[in-house]
Amino acid sequence: ASDLRPHAQSPASAHGNARKHGPFHKIVILGDGGVGKSALTMQFVCHEFLDYHDPTIEDSYQHQVHIDSRVAHLDILDTAGQPEFATIREQYMRTGEGYVICYSITDKRSFEEAIEYKKLINRYARVDHIPIVLVGNKSDLEHLRRVGVSDGEALSKEWACPFHETSAALRRNVDVVFHDLIREIRRKEHDENV
Ligand code: GDP
Ligand code: MG
Repeated sequence: ASDLRPHAQSPASAHGNARKHGPFHKIVILGDGGVGKSALTMQFVCHEFLDYHDPTIEDSYQHQVHIDSRVAHLDILDTAGQPEFATIREQYMRTGEGYVICYSITDKRSFEEAIEYKKLINRYARVDHIPIVLVGNKSDLEHLRRVGVSDGEALSKEWACPFHETSAALRRNVDVVFHDLIREIRRKEHDENV
């Protein structure tokens, strides 16, 4: 069920996790402009493919899903902009609980930018092992492929994180990205609480 509310106020978490604000898991979508961050977010939240979405729009979406028979409340920040403007981004680099780092399989440069985003997270997040999922989007554009599946796999192995090639256009592998990220976040929470 889709649940689009503008920044609902919620009671503080009983567990006192500094990165967690109320029951919402704060998820940040990062990646080069045009890779499909907004399209992925929209498909996940609204089941719609936006053929055009203003590349400068940065917005957050609240969404509730059942993952492994438990409810997860997500606060998803669909970012816009370049890693060079990292100072503006510091705030969410510090507060995100988990990150989806996206590139487009049709764009080698976006793959290299993904590596830059990971460095930013490492620099700002200041905790060990931040939950991340690596995403190679636009898998429907096989004829324009510039980044091999094995490149994504190798990078995710290096980062020790899940990896999926997705198509926001066809809604292929969209849900599993968010579900895997929640699983990573829950695993981390669990490890910290034992
Ligand atoms: P963002 O800047 O990362 O938020 O990228 P957008 O979500 O705005 O997408 C940029 C462009 O790529 C838009 O024209 C989208 O329609 C298109 N796009 C996004 N995802 C896909 C996909 O999976 N396949 C194809 N063919 N196009 C996509
Ligand atoms: Mg966008």
